[in-house]
Amino acid sequence: MNAAELRERLRKEAAAIGLDAFGVAPVDADVRADYFKKWIAEGMHGDMDWLAKNPERRTQATQVLPEAKSIIVVGLNYYQPHPPADYRIAKYALGADYHNVLVKKLKKLCTVMRELGGAQKPYVDTGPVLEKPMAAEAGLGWQGKSTILLQKGFGTWLFLGVIITTLELEPSKKEPNRCGSCTRCIDACPTAAIIAPYKLDARKCLAYLTIEHDGPIPLEYRKPMGDRVFGCDDCLDVCPWNKWAQITKEQKFSPRPHLPLRETLVWTEADFLNHFKGTPVKRLGLHRWWRNALTVLGNRGEARDLPAVTALENHENAMVAEHAKWAHAEIVARG
Ligand code: SF4
Ligand code: SF4
Repeated sequence: MNAAELRERLRKEAAAIGLDAFGVAPVDADVRADYFKKWIAEGMHGDMDWLAKNPERRTQATQVLPEAKSIIVVGLNYYQPHPPADYRIAKYALGADYHNVLVKKLKKLCTVMRELGGAQKPYVDTGPVLEKPMAAEAGLGWQGKSTILLQKGFGTWLFLGVIITTLELEPSKKEPNRCGSCTRCIDACPTAAIIAPYKLDARKCLAYLTIEHDGPIPLEYRKPMGDRVFGCDDCLDVCPWNKWAQITKEQKFSPRPHLPLRETLVWTEADFLNHFKGTPVKRLGLHRWWRNALTVLGNRGEARDLPAVTALENHENAMVAEHAKWAHAEIVARG
C-alpha cells in the first residue's frame, strides 16, 4: 500500500470504529507554536499550569516519538440539545467523560495500525500536541474566531483525538477558513473573553471560571454566569456552521438527570460523586459544584430555594459560605 492507500484504509477503519471525522497532518505541521507560546507568556491560560509545561513538547510531535512520520487527528461528534432545565451544563459534559470513550476508539485504531507495521502514541486532550491547530492541519476543518475547531458537517461539536505514528500517510487536503465577516461568537460571549478574533483570554471565559478555576467566582463574572453551572456553550451555540449539526450516535453521551439545584445543596460528597460518576463534572468536587450552583441560584433562584441556600451560609468552607450569602442577598433583592 502506498501512503495514499494507507490513509484511505485507516479512514475506513476509523469510520467503522464510530469516529466521525478523520484526517492526516504531516509530522512537521505548523501548529502556530509561536502564537501558543506568546499566549502562555501573556498568562492567558490562567491557573491551567499544565498547558505551560514543556511548550516544545506540545508543539513538536517528534519530541515524543522521534521516528514519527504522520499525525492522525480524529473527531467524535457530541452534539445534543440541552435537556429542559433551569440551568445548563455544557453539552460536552452532559454524559460520559469523552476521554474514556475516545481513548477506547483510538486504541482500537492503534491496534490496526500496529498490524500494519506502525508504532503509535494516542492522545486525547492530555497529550503533547495542540489538537485544534493540528486538526486544521489535518484537514478536519478550520479554527474559528472563537478558537474552536469548526467542521463543515458537524460544526463546532467534535471531540478531538490525536495519534502520532511512524506510518507514512499522505496528508489530507486542508480546509480554508470559512468564518468570513461573521463575528457572532465574539458578540455573543457574555464576558467578552474573545478579546480579538482567534484570541481567547481563558481567565475571562466562563468555561475556565466554572471548571478550572479554584477559588470563588470573581464578583464581576457572577451575573454574566446566568444559568451556566458547568461550562459555557454560547460562542458555539451561535455559530452559523452548526446549522447542520447532527445528534451524536454515541449512547454514552446521554445526559444524566438534571435535579433542581436546591436539591443538590443538601448533597453529601458521596451523593455528588454518585450522581456525576463517569462524567466530566465529577472532577469539580462538591464545594465547587455548590459554588457554581449558588451563583446560578443567585441569578435565577426563587423564594423556595432560600432554605437550602441559607443552610450553607455557615458552612466551614469559606468559599461556599460566602457564595451562599451572596445568593441569599440576590434572591431577596429580586423579591
Ligand atoms: S465559552 Fe462562553 S465565556 Fe468562554 S469564550 Fe465562549 S461564550 Fe465566552
Ligand atoms: S460564530 Fe462566526 S466567526 Fe465565530 S467561529 Fe462561527 S463562523 Fe467563525
